Amino acid sequence: MAEIVVAANWKMNKTVSESDNLIKEILEKIPPVNSVTCVVFPPFLSIPSAAGLIDGSSVNLGAQNVHSAKNGAFTGEVSALMLQDYCSYVLLGHSERRLLFGETDAFVNEKLAGAIECGLRPIVCVGEQSSDRESGLTENVIRNQIKNSFKDIRAINNIIVAYEPVWAIGTGTAASPDDAEDVNKLIREELASIFGSEQVSKTPILYGGSVTEDNIADFLSKPNVNGALIGGASLNSEGFTEILRIACNLT
Ligand code: PEP
Repeated sequence: MAEIVVAANWKMNKTVSESDNLIKEILEKIPPVNSVTCVVFPPFLSIPSAAGLIDGSSVNLGAQNVHSAKNGAFTGEVSALMLQDYCSYVLLGHSERRLLFGETDAFVNEKLAGAIECGLRPIVCVGEQSSDRESGLTENVIRNQIKNSFKDIRAINNIIVAYEPVWAIGTGTAASPDDAEDVNKLIREELASIFGSEQVSKTPILYGGSVTEDNIADFLSKPNVNGALIGGASLNSEGFTEILRIACNLT
């Protein structure tokens, strides 16, 4: 049985003081989350302060992006070596990185190797665009993203995958739980063809795209949906902790 993970991607929202306040509110309201792994991904600048606030709590901390190299002439970038002092998770290949900043599967693959080397736990995001879905290409696109992102990666243990259909992100139109289950199942199959089904049976595969407190239970009722990556609904403490509460009650 895969671990259940509920993760908050704050994207480019919250100043450092706003982020501190949100963390404090989450810590006040969070239910006991023994059965669920909770991770928050604030903007880079908020990470050091957030690390101090979450210390000793059940909230884990991650970065929304990382460069593949440990250091060097990469103006404006942040490396896993720098992050490892503050956080333990990293988001890789989010569709906004792919579409707005030109990240390819090959670059996601390099970042994945770099993150693993520095001991960060990656959440690798994949997902089709609406045009892919309309043309019946979803399966192809997802299988290729998995194949290419995991090229030469030796072990799947400690890696999380998130299926995030691009058309569902920030739109209020979530995928149906059945569609999320179908794609998560094929992600597991594709990973199993690389790493073997025993290893992959324990890999958390999340769904992301307009998840709220109103639909989280339906997603978590599916056997291959092992949690959620949440954008908009994670920006307020009530919504996010309610999602956590529902996830904990179901597990
Ligand atoms: C995301 O940014 O990963 C995301 C899923 O956003 P939202 O929940 O707002 O759709």
